[in-house]
Amino acid sequence: MRKLAILGATGSIGTQALDVAARHSDRFAVTAIAAHSSAEKLFEQVRAFRPQIAALTVEPEEIPADVKNACQWIFGPDALLRVVRACDADDVLVSVVGIAGLSAVMESLRCGKRVLLANKEPLVAGGELVTRAAQAAGQPLLPVDSEHSAIFQCMQGAGPNRPKRLILTASGGPFRTWAKEDILCATKEQALKHPNWSMGRKITVDSASMLNKALEVIEARWLFDMPAEQIDVLIHPQSVIHSMVEFEDGAVMAQLGTPDMRLPILYAMSWPERLETGGARLDFSQMKALTFEQPDPSRFPGLGLAYEALRVGGTMSAILNGANEVAVDAFLHDRIHFGHIAQLVEETMHAVAPVYHATLDQVFESDLAARAKAQELLGTSRFAV
Ligand code: NAD
Ligand code: MG
Repeated sequence: MRKLAILGATGSIGTQALDVAARHSDRFAVTAIAAHSSAEKLFEQVRAFRPQIAALTVEPEEIPADVKNACQWIFGPDALLRVVRACDADDVLVSVVGIAGLSAVMESLRCGKRVLLANKEPLVAGGELVTRAAQAAGQPLLPVDSEHSAIFQCMQGAGPNRPKRLILTASGGPFRTWAKEDILCATKEQALKHPNWSMGRKITVDSASMLNKALEVIEARWLFDMPAEQIDVLIHPQSVIHSMVEFEDGAVMAQLGTPDMRLPILYAMSWPERLETGGARLDFSQMKALTFEQPDPSRFPGLGLAYEALRVGGTMSAILNGANEVAVDAFLHDRIHFGHIAQLVEETMHAVAPVYHATLDQVFESDLAARAKAQELLGTSRFAV
């Protein structure tokens, strides 16, 4: 029986994690759940899962008596950290969104807990510190992001062989076939309609701009200790192959499956064992062609920014991430056009100097500097809508 804490329990990943935990209640006990402000949903989860601890970063005005007395409650901006310290979980699934999860990831590792990582922004912003902390703790970082889980799965039989190349697949998002001019002024509704996956709003917009794949290139760089030149991105619209690893002899290992996050979530929870997810299975007899294309840098300029950030090094990836968080939020609040997102990230990267050999505090300082610069740029006429 493994004891699991879920930070971001009410989100897309969090609810699917609870779904597979319930399916295997003989294997997983949910001991703590935390979310931002979605109190009603968290109350329902407390009733269903009876955790020892529940937490919200925004304290609700009222808590029904039955849930109030059902567990220990933690509220406030530092709720995630306090949950990590207070809970007796073996594993912490970090599925909050944005850099908000970084401190909780570091604290989980410091407390000797194993981290199941859906939340990619902490690795993008603080990859070097996070991977070093995991090594020091003697804990594997178990990837939940489907591409990284695929690579991790492909590496299971690799023994001492290092990969020659990682191939991250990408669906291409809703604008894969769109003309550049149409992408530039795509609406919120269009960006939020992903062809293959149902996810939270931030990652859905990131998928449409392909900045999600940019974040994933940086994530792969740290998770698998691979130089950026050995990480490729390949558009694969059917989302059947979740990513691939090429070895020295040219052999390519791939992981295939239906687009269902419950598989990578449950694999991280049960690794190295495989358990039934309840999801649909691939039916090769019904499958049409699997196709592949190169990403188009002129229509999706966001992807190349990952390689630039890794080339510059230091906290440039944190600057990319901070600017992107501001840009996506501005787009979702109708403050900028869709095409402005990558432009804002790029201009911020060129305006903020990175810090080398950064401490955790300096990573947060770079993040804040990027956010301030991005906000300043947003006020200029170049980003007017
Ligand atoms: P979501 O928006 O659906 O859910 C986010 C969860 O985090 C919610 O429970 C919310 O209450 C909580 N949260 C948000 N901000 C918080 C804060 N500041 N403090 C504490 N809690 C906070 O997001 P999601 O789609 O589940 O994605 C979560 C993470 O997983 C993201 O980093 C995303 O990139 C990554 N991811 C998601 C998917 C997917 O299929 N949804 C796939 C791969 C990776
Ligand atoms: Mg992914």
